[in-house]
Amino acid sequence: MAFEGLTSKLQETFRKLKGKGKLSEKDVKDAMREVKLALLEADVNYKVVKDFINSVSARAVGQEVMESLTPGQHVIKIVNEELIALLGKSESKLIVSKVPPTIIMFVGLQGAGKTTMAGKLALHLKKHNKRPLLVACDIYRPAAIKQLQVLGAQIDVPVFSLGDKTNPVDIARAGIENGKRNGNDYVIIDTAGRLHIDEELMNELKNIKEAVNPNEILLVVDAMTGQDAVNVAEHFNGNLDITGVILTKLDGDTRGGAAISVNAVTGKPIKFVGTGEKLSDLEIFYPDRMASRILG
Ligand code: GDP
Repeated sequence: MAFEGLTSKLQETFRKLKGKGKLSEKDVKDAMREVKLALLEADVNYKVVKDFINSVSARAVGQEVMESLTPGQHVIKIVNEELIALLGKSESKLIVSKVPPTIIMFVGLQGAGKTTMAGKLALHLKKHNKRPLLVACDIYRPAAIKQLQVLGAQIDVPVFSLGDKTNPVDIARAGIENGKRNGNDYVIIDTAGRLHIDEELMNELKNIKEAVNPNEILLVVDAMTGQDAVNVAEHFNGNLDITGVILTKLDGDTRGGAAISVNAVTGKPIKFVGTGEKLSDLEIFYPDRMASRILG
């Protein structure tokens, strides 16, 4: 499971803090050095770590903490609060269009879990009595359209496709028209990914964005890729001004760095996480719950 290494290191530091009665400034500094190393080892972006440690330290060496009856607990509470703030403060709900359908565009690198996540989100919406439509705009990856159709059939959600010979911009437009006609209140557009970011892909995504003016542009990133996931997020955000992030594969043995850095680096909220290959393996992202999971 994700965060194992980080959690055990933080717990060790916290155990030492709690074991002490009074805390000296040096005790706090030592603890902060350990927290810093643990975060860096978990592949959290170095600048994010630096800012985080500064925020915690500024609060932790204050009079109030030093003079409290349980200063160790107090420091731990500050770490928890600052971690929640780093992860995004509170749940960030899907932006819903005033006039249906709500248009959600999925973007991300190939293999990140985009198509699977499109199916997961469709199922999630369906469970909430919504009527989603999936639109297959990945015309390059062999079998991507088929994959979406198979997912759609599994969860009984319609999939709109015009095959792989039509321009993705036209497919997206036609998909939305189809959704409107059939009373779908959510249209989820699955776009193409590449193994690496390239300009051609970005231009295609920009063109789709311009053509359909989506309510949400959700970037799907593979949490297992650590620091790279953060670079990808910065790049997509810079080009497309995404509205949110979805982290997949949090069930793997990821060190957790991407989950912790991505909101701080992009300023965009994490909305959902994927925790497995099954279509029901989707969780709403709650910063406080994630912080609890990380701190153990
Ligand atoms: P796409 O190229 O971005 O559309 O990626 P896919 O949806 O085809 O997913 C790539 C692979 O990752 C597939 O084998 C999925 O089963 C797997 N996958 C997707 N999401 C998760 C997840 O949350 N956890 C795990 N363990 N595997 C996932």
